[in-house]
Amino acid sequence: MSTTSNPVAVVTGASSGIGAATARALAGVGYDVVLGARRLDRLEEVAAECGGTAIELDVTEDDSVAAFAAAVDEKFGRCDVLVNNAGGALGTESVAEANIDDWRWMYEVNVLGTLRVTKALLPALVASGDGQVISIGSIAAREPYKGGAGYNAAKHGVAALSRVLRIELLGQPVRVCEIDPGMVHTDFSLVRFKGDQEKADAVYRGVTPLTAEDVADTVSWVATRPAHVNIDQILMLARDQTSAQVVHRTEQ
Ligand code: NAP
Repeated sequence: MSTTSNPVAVVTGASSGIGAATARALAGVGYDVVLGARRLDRLEEVAAECGGTAIELDVTEDDSVAAFAAAVDEKFGRCDVLVNNAGGALGTESVAEANIDDWRWMYEVNVLGTLRVTKALLPALVASGDGQVISIGSIAAREPYKGGAGYNAAKHGVAALSRVLRIELLGQPVRVCEIDPGMVHTDFSLVRFKGDQEKADAVYRGVTPLTAEDVADTVSWVATRPAHVNIDQILMLARDQTSAQVVHRTEQ
């Protein structure tokens, strides 16, 4: 039984960057927002700002995802929108020098994390009568680039999952969308370069990248289309970027 008359949106990886901005944006258009991530302190801060509910979540752990889905069900009894945003990249090594642990992490968080949470919430999304699964992929899902193989492989996996889900849900009241951003200024590069702030800053030097709010605005637009409209895929880039590694910079 639903305990709220508002639609409920679940956002994974909502403790920072695109996920936090998406939680704020969806709260702004009338959703009761549930925020999931591992850093509960940061998650609670974002939740407080947007009147949402913070629930600890590690998308790489079966038990954590099961407990999260149970908590959503207990508190709200419904789920209308799932934003699969938790993810990221680790390293830029060549295939020859690839770090297997980094690849494993990228596959676990991006692909299996998206799979776990989607599986757990799909019954509620179908039951809502107008569910939506919106997954944050990347330009890396469309375009291989030097040093990107592990992240390319993971985001290609997310794209495959999302596109197959769309096919398999045909006839069910659930829409499926993949949003693939290019460069967005968040903690993404700091994570990718394992805390090296100088390398992370260099990614955005002399360029105007997308902001987390730009992507959140797109998620919110997708979520608020009429029920018969499925936005299947979006590639969104900064004006200063035309492909994964072609970027206009005013300084190097
Ligand atoms: P970010 O600021 O580093 O955010 C990543 C989020 O994922 C954090 O909230 C983090 O929260 C969460 N996360 C990581 N591992 C998790 C886990 N095991 N369980 C639950 N949550 C987890 O970077 P962002 O740019 O906003 O990234 C959001 C998504 O956009 C990612 O899927 C990324 O691949 C994608 N993307 C980013 C860019 C870009 O240039 N920034 C471009 C294209 C796509 P905790 O650490 O608190 O768990």
